[in-house]
Amino acid sequence: MIPGFTEGAHHAWELDAALRFHSALGSFSGGRILVGVPLGPYRCPPAPYEVQWMLDSYFKRRGMRERVSIEFFTRDPEPAGEAHDPVVWMDAQSKQRNISQHYEFIVHSIDPKRKIVIGLYGYTLSYDLLFMVPPHRPAQVLYDCGLADQETGIRVDYDTMETKWQNVYAIGDCADMPASKAGVVAHQEGDVLAHNLKVRITGHGVPTQLRLHTI
Ligand SMILES: Cc1cc2nc3c(=O)[nH]c(=O)nc-3n(C[C@H](O)[C@H](O)[C@H](O)COP(=O)(O)OP(=O)(O)OC[C@H]3O[C@@H](n4cnc5c(N)ncnc54)[C@H](O)[C@@H]3O)c2cc1C
Repeated sequence: MIPGFTEGAHHAWELDAALRFHSALGSFSGGRILVGVPLGPYRCPPAPYEVQWMLDSYFKRRGMRERVSIEFFTRDPEPAGEAHDPVVWMDAQSKQRNISQHYEFIVHSIDPKRKIVIGLYGYTLSYDLLFMVPPHRPAQVLYDCGLADQETGIRVDYDTMETKWQNVYAIGDCADMPASKAGVVAHQEGDVLAHNLKVRITGHGVPTQLRLHTI
């Protein structure tokens, strides 16, 4: 989905990739590390911030933090609002750790030979080591069977998780919800759906609607 990603980018969203990144870090002797997120949905929005901070701690522990420039790019604008808003807080935490933030950078492709990330509108960022969160798409089987008809997942009713098929529901990362692709979301959706199914099957109780608590 992102030309050059497979050859050029590390990530930790799957075990094999995480192990490869671990070994690349072990042999990294200094330079510019880019951490970035794609356009569109990805799993666990706070995780790329955790990656930045873990890299900061890791290189401090190795006594070489001053030889490493850690930089983050995101498609989002610079966060604004109350200091305790999660994204504002995370942004501030990164800046406190001397991690530069590149906002509104929309990745188009990666050129692994020249070691640059190419963004829309001619913007580029060079790197020595690139960590990029992979974009998320529903499993192919969900497209093949017609349940998912768009890249963001299976269309659901936001209150009840019903799909357009009778007695078929979708929860978790495969559902097209205006919420994070996160376990905490899947969990709350599961609770509501389990309750409503119980009410329907037993005829006891009152159906409820999803009221997500998430960032
Ligand atoms: C690095 C990382 C950090 C994260 N950190 C957090 C966090 O701190 N907090 C948080 O809330 N969330 C976090 N998440 C997100 C969280 O893991 C997911 O949102 C959550 O697992 C979604 O659950 P799910 O059941 O919808 O999908 P999944 O957990 O992806 O489960 C889908 C399952 O379907 C299986 N499957 C796929 N295709 C087929 C098929 N054809 N046949 C049979 N089985 C199939 C897959 O193998 C998988 O087991 C993180 C994710 C990552 C990658």
